[in-house]
Amino acid sequence: MDRHEIIVVTGGLGFIGKHFIRYCLEKGHFVKNIDRISYAADRVVNAEFSKSSNYRFYEADICTLDFLPECDIFVNFAAESHVDNAITNARKFCETNFLGVQNCLELVRLKHEREQPIFIQISTDEVYGDIREGSHKEEDQLIPSNPYAATKAAADMLVKSWGRTYGVRWNIIRPTNNYGVHQYPEKLIPKSAWRMKRGLPAAMHGDGSYIRSWLHVEDAVRGIATVIDKGKRNQIYNIGSTEERRNIDVIRRIAQIAGIEERSAFVSASDRSGQDIRYSLDDTKVRALGWFQQKKFDEEIIQIVEQLDNSRFV
Ligand code: NAD
Repeated sequence: MDRHEIIVVTGGLGFIGKHFIRYCLEKGHFVKNIDRISYAADRVVNAEFSKSSNYRFYEADICTLDFLPECDIFVNFAAESHVDNAITNARKFCETNFLGVQNCLELVRLKHEREQPIFIQISTDEVYGDIREGSHKEEDQLIPSNPYAATKAAADMLVKSWGRTYGVRWNIIRPTNNYGVHQYPEKLIPKSAWRMKRGLPAAMHGDGSYIRSWLHVEDAVRGIATVIDKGKRNQIYNIGSTEERRNIDVIRRIAQIAGIEERSAFVSASDRSGQDIRYSLDDTKVRALGWFQQKKFDEEIIQIVEQLDNSRFV
């Protein structure tokens, strides 16, 4: 994104999308944000972005969207993203994460060849399923464990097939677990911190031994921009992290920062059905483009917990 591009972002009021939009506006790009304003949308940030003359907002659902604003790059962040919700009811996940992507691919393909943007699909490490040792490479088999991951894996297949059949230019980007400020408080870090700040124990799946690697959202955003700038088209790129932590250790650290004694910091909740033991990504490919992880989990987590502000969500 070296020259000033016109970028359509979907799901740009969500956690990663809004950080991506802020990055793009700071670089001088023109951003058109399409979001249906679900429960996970950040309404405050839309007011912040709207002050920029380089920003337009469209309240729309990617499943029923029937026009694609002119753009050079189309980045699809829009998704139902919370695994627990998918286990309760996967219908909306199938609609947005699968049919929504199909609708967007069609809108891109139906543009005149000269006007077709590059289609960037934000996928996830969860499409590979878990791995006890070693790390997943981009060409590994997809073995999703839960309905959320299955819909994301299915979307990746759609993107690749629209490339092969219709010539749509694409990249699929698979980041690992993101963390950062202003994440909707259903995910581990903001949810645990929010509960502890209200004097309630965090709820931990099982014995907390599950391992996640933590990627700061600003590192993720720079990774996405690196792929757009320097990536080979029609390729998949993982964005991983060296910051591996057991869930119980993350919760203990949050308690420490919030000044809560460990014995009242958490209770064991029932294990998540289909729980993945560990995720790990080999991100040699994106590192070869010049990207590297800059943020340190132990430093960033302090301000995330201390500055927790959930007032921006309904
Ligand atoms: P989020 O849940 O915070 O935000 C999703 C946004 O999409 C919301 O603003 C919501 O209103 C919007 N949206 C949902 N359905 C829509 C629809 N049908 N039409 C238009 N807008 C819709 O999600 P996030 O955590 O920012 O994740 C963004 C993307 O990154 C997702 O595709 C997710 O699968 C992927 N991802 C997330 C993580 C993570 O740790 N958060 C890790 C890897 C990949």
